[in-house]
Amino acid sequence: MSQRILVLPGDHIGPEVVAQASRVLKRVAADFGLAIELEEASIGGAALEATGVPLPDSTLERARAADAILLGAVGGPEWDAVERDLRPERGLLKIRSELGLFGNLRPAILYPQLAAASSLRPEAVSGLDILIVRELTGGIYFGEPRGIRTLESGEREGYNTYVYRESEIERIGRLAFESARKRNRRLCSVDKSNVLEVTVLWREVMERLAADYPDVELSHMYVDNAAMQLVRAPKQFDVVVTGNMFGDILSDAAAMLTGSIGMLPSASLDVNSRGMYEPCHGSAPDISGQDAANPLATILSVAMMLRYSLAAPAAADAVEAAVSRVLDRGLRTPDICTPQDQQVGTVAMGDAVIAALEANTLEESA
Ligand code: NAD
Repeated sequence: MSQRILVLPGDHIGPEVVAQASRVLKRVAADFGLAIELEEASIGGAALEATGVPLPDSTLERARAADAILLGAVGGPEWDAVERDLRPERGLLKIRSELGLFGNLRPAILYPQLAAASSLRPEAVSGLDILIVRELTGGIYFGEPRGIRTLESGEREGYNTYVYRESEIERIGRLAFESARKRNRRLCSVDKSNVLEVTVLWREVMERLAADYPDVELSHMYVDNAAMQLVRAPKQFDVVVTGNMFGDILSDAAAMLTGSIGMLPSASLDVNSRGMYEPCHGSAPDISGQDAANPLATILSVAMMLRYSLAAPAAADAVEAAVSRVLDRGLRTPDICTPQDQQVGTVAMGDAVIAALEANTLEESA
């Protein structure tokens, strides 16, 4: 039976990068004999224009029925004045919560070819390959009670609640241990257990889970030290697991180590490893319609989809190898281009990745 992939192009550069990633997905599926069917639906500003809401019920229904979702990006200045609940970004938040996508996987990979683009010295980051596993649907961003209240003294006070249930910690922990198994089998759990009881429990649960994964080496780090280590010696990490707020901050810091937002894929998974795959960047209205967007983050999101939802790790490796080969050839979209490189547009970059997939296949069959 075919696996159903729902494609949600979104707004501005979303459709441009998704078009290239869809071509790559179809090509690699044909090469590896994977039966897939792609269908398209609207989300974000495009959906708002067409239906009056940023996440139509028909899109949500098709998302529930799909084996995996490929998303571009949503939003743009033309919807800035729209009321809050109808903003394109609300469509994205809603689909994540409706589908129970609790586990956010954000790799920060620095291809050696792009080491000069990082804010750190090339030797500190060249070959960097870490994975941040962030809990996405709990923690202080969702905890109740929350709000701003006026005290008897008349002074106002803001408050939030940091809360995690054992079951929530366990499911993100298992996802992280399983992810570490697919990599170098080292997992660092980041908490603040010297101050916050929630993370005392977090650490306890991680320790308990470790017994089920004796092949994975578990370590712990306080979040302040983790932030420091990420910018001091990031290559010491393999997989990092942490809660929603710490993960939000650490994954953005890790992203900048790699120099360009146009290179960073992500996955958000549910308990059955069904997932939504998307680049970390937004809809980049400043460059849309100019054939200037870097499609590699979305193409690398396809590689993650193949690995995590479609159980096709060899096809995932092939896509990543093709991207590396294209970079070896010196082809660069404007965001990662230096004077020594050959500048290409979005479509030509897609063409080059497909050509590199073909070259890999030819080499293997030779
Ligand atoms: P952005 O990520 O869209 O752009 C930031 C900068 O990075 C811009 O200069 C842009 O040109 C550049 N950039 C981004 N992706 C690129 C790519 N693939 N290739 C080359 N350059 C790229 O962030 P922003 O400008 O803060 O937001 C623009 C819109 O996107 C807003 O409406 C925002 O709400 C939305 N947004 C959506 C998502 C999402 O859909 N997941 C995420 C972030 C922002």
